[in-house]
Amino acid sequence: MTIEQAREQVATLRQQLEEYGYQYYVLDQPVVSDAEYDQLMQQLIKLEQEFPELVSLDSPTQKVGGEPLPFFEKVEHLSPMLSLGNAFNEEDLREFDERVQKAAAGEPVRYVCELKIDGLAISLRYVDGLFTLGATRGDGTTGEDITSNLRTIRSIPLRLKEPISLEVRGEAFLPKKEFQRINEAKEANGEPLFANPRNAAAGSLRQLDPKLAAKRALDIFLYGLGEEDLQDTIESHTEGLNYLQQIGLKINPERRTVNSIEEVMEYIAYWQENRPNLGYEIDGIVIKVDDFALRRKMGTTIKVPRWAIAYKFPAEEAVTKLIDIEIRVGRTGAVTPTAILEPVQLAGTTVQRASLHNEDIIREKGIKLGDYVVVHKAGDIIPEIVAVKSEKRTGEERDFHMPTHCPACERELVRLEGEVALRCINPSCPAQSREAIIHFVSRGAMNIEGLGEKVAIQLFDEGLVKNVADLYYLQRDQLLQLERMGQKSVDKLLESLEKSKSNSLERVLFGLGIRFVGSKGAKILASHLETIDRLMEATEEDLVSLEEIGPKMAQSVVAYFEQSEARQLIERLRKAGVNLTYLGAKKKSEQIGDHFFAGKTVVLTGTLHTMSRKEAAEKLEVVGAEVTGSVSKNTDYLIAGEKAGSKLTKAEKLGVSVLTEEEFLEKMQV
Ligand code: NAD
Repeated sequence: MTIEQAREQVATLRQQLEEYGYQYYVLDQPVVSDAEYDQLMQQLIKLEQEFPELVSLDSPTQKVGGEPLPFFEKVEHLSPMLSLGNAFNEEDLREFDERVQKAAAGEPVRYVCELKIDGLAISLRYVDGLFTLGATRGDGTTGEDITSNLRTIRSIPLRLKEPISLEVRGEAFLPKKEFQRINEAKEANGEPLFANPRNAAAGSLRQLDPKLAAKRALDIFLYGLGEEDLQDTIESHTEGLNYLQQIGLKINPERRTVNSIEEVMEYIAYWQENRPNLGYEIDGIVIKVDDFALRRKMGTTIKVPRWAIAYKFPAEEAVTKLIDIEIRVGRTGAVTPTAILEPVQLAGTTVQRASLHNEDIIREKGIKLGDYVVVHKAGDIIPEIVAVKSEKRTGEERDFHMPTHCPACERELVRLEGEVALRCINPSCPAQSREAIIHFVSRGAMNIEGLGEKVAIQLFDEGLVKNVADLYYLQRDQLLQLERMGQKSVDKLLESLEKSKSNSLERVLFGLGIRFVGSKGAKILASHLETIDRLMEATEEDLVSLEEIGPKMAQSVVAYFEQSEARQLIERLRKAGVNLTYLGAKKKSEQIGDHFFAGKTVVLTGTLHTMSRKEAAEKLEVVGAEVTGSVSKNTDYLIAGEKAGSKLTKAEKLGVSVLTEEEFLEKMQV
């Protein structure tokens, strides 16, 4: 492979991983399976190893998690909350052991094996024994303050048994039964289901209403000391965990301290077999060096500690019969085959459909109708067919051929250059219009409650909604005539539609389904251009000049708004009262006018004397500034209080303007 080819592949992989990571970490709504994500990540790691000149600090291989959500107070971690390196097989584990043994230089090594709980990482701070602050991991440096939600978890003591000040870290999670109960309730209400317990736990904790968190029986296991200071008196992880238990914190009882990698392997084998008996989901085993001195010697990379590794269980698999292959025309016209399966139990749910992606995959895997196939599901709800059980063939299996014409509009399908998928390019294909509506109302887009896929299809099939603007012109009596639609559901639906009118611009933009504009791209476009009118006027050059907008997206956006149908659609949305402006920080700056800090990106650091950093941040936000947690070249001002540390150094290095507390107060009064 040439460097140019590698550069292109690296760029594509990064873009894909960024978008998947954003959906997973920020929105708690993964769009691909963990196994698929891990596979892409491994590809990127390999390419970066082969072509080290392509490594960059903003690569997903170098970053932890996702940015904190803006509506939470931000919490700066006392020390970074890192991710974990992955091991997928025995060989990876042995390599890890070799690295540890080398660092131990002949001294005996002890490992602590722990269950890898499928939840989200949490940091808890106790001051004089009292629980004062709880945060998510966020991007590893800055997390979200979710103290009020965490207070509703019964296993988090509000007071420790000793009046000690410390930070502890652990995993908040939903027990299996609770996860099932929540998803069943969601299904009954026609709401989208949580993909896995991790996303359900994150979704419950990263929302603003503690009453909702309290209704969900969340739980927690603590697995580590955060701050370094106790490490002077406590010398090993085993000792640390025992101490945490002693002061009243909940520690996982299945942990085990072992003396060799062989014992680690036994522990893994045991839990791989026995995990269904646990009351909560685990997705692997975490192996940690026990001795703190050895840990310090090994250190960490920017993303992971070198002294620990996560062994990931292989995704769960089952064998079942492929009954049929259904063809679906997506909202961009891509024609995708979906496998219809004989129902089979897999990872706690019944699987009846699996994704086949495209015709090439069917051919590569040699899949025939009537085959027995291996279905794989990695802890979430998007199963895939991984292989055919050819030894089970009877001779009655039939070859499958993709249709040559669109099953919905009968127009001939085409394969565009460089694409694997077949496409229907008829702009008025009814199947595409229907999918466009399903997408528009979905949770990631306009989030219209009570209007799930089923209702969207019903509205379309009944001819009531032909495009997304029609949704806002629906009449009460039209809806009441629909099957299975009572007074109550109609009221709820109209109310949700009304509520969705005040969504910020990025949701509308994402909802329109413009090619290459994912939820992240929509957010960037909306925050920079602020109104749909400015976006419609923007040229390709204007868009490409924005950070993170590539030529493909720019071209697609311009081409989209050149269509008169698209402009008409926007006008009808506007007429119906749908908000078409960005409601984030920049919008505020517009209202505030010309305050010194309006529209500026500001970071606070160190101790302020006249107010807390939190109060300062609030004041800044009121005058239209965006307060962020870390200094970058996009930062306009760093406000440095007493004992400012690494942020001040970084700001000086990047040439960011630094203000003292006095200067800040002075400018605030302008
Ligand atoms: P990770 O889940 O591989 O490992 C780190 C995390 O493990 C910690 O932050 C902690 O939360 C958790 N953990 C659970 N039990 C633990 C214990 N006993 N000790 C220490 N930590 C414990 O890493 P990550 O950075 O959180 O996420 C990366 C993974 O998330 C990927 O490998 C992938 O599987 C998944 N992911 C999926 C998608 C998707 O679209 N499906 C997108 C992004 C990430």
